[in-house]
Amino acid sequence: MKIIMLGAPGAGKGTQAKKIAAKYHVPHISTGDIFRANIKEGTELGKKAQEYMDQGLLVPDELVCDLVVDRIHKDDCENGFILDGFPRTIPQADALDGALAQNGEKIEYAIDVEVPDENIIKRMAGRRSCKDCGAIFHLVYNPPKKENCCDVCGGPLVLRDDDKEETVKKRLDVYHEQTAPLIDHYKKAGSLYEVDGTQDINVVFEEIESILEA
Ligand SMILES: [Zn+2]
Repeated sequence: MKIIMLGAPGAGKGTQAKKIAAKYHVPHISTGDIFRANIKEGTELGKKAQEYMDQGLLVPDELVCDLVVDRIHKDDCENGFILDGFPRTIPQADALDGALAQNGEKIEYAIDVEVPDENIIKRMAGRRSCKDCGAIFHLVYNPPKKENCCDVCGGPLVLRDDDKEETVKKRLDVYHEQTAPLIDHYKKAGSLYEVDGTQDINVVFEEIESILEA
């Protein structure tokens, strides 16, 4: 079960990835976690990545890809894996495809969680975060018991800069320019599956289950 998650930031793909990982016992892998692990363990790849980061440079696609491929060949990936947040661009997807092909492997499921931009902007605008403990609420979907007050610690709730309309729109623009072309890429490869991400979280997951169990 070799899976990558596609979909705009805020579409809920991280939530679905966690649910897939829990049900099918495959690891949920993000590039951030891989970087941290390799740097902590002082691996050769980790040292190389650290050099770029120390200079404030982006880690090149080939190196990111090497790190990802190294990770997905560990024992816990025997039954598969879910990549979340990688690949993000066509060159990264090409590099990953090439590296998998060397072992006669390929991405079997590219699951695209589809949510129109307007819905994402509305969703994010309703998010409120506790200034003190970071707990997240939503004015419509998960309102706090007392207005503007954290259920967990009583702290004040704020709209984070990350959730402001302007920031969300910028992230969506980057997504459409760099990442959305992957939808076509995996469609051509015959591994694209689209789900309607505007539905209830559990209904979205049921759709994903029927894809993975077909
Ligand atoms: Zn709090």
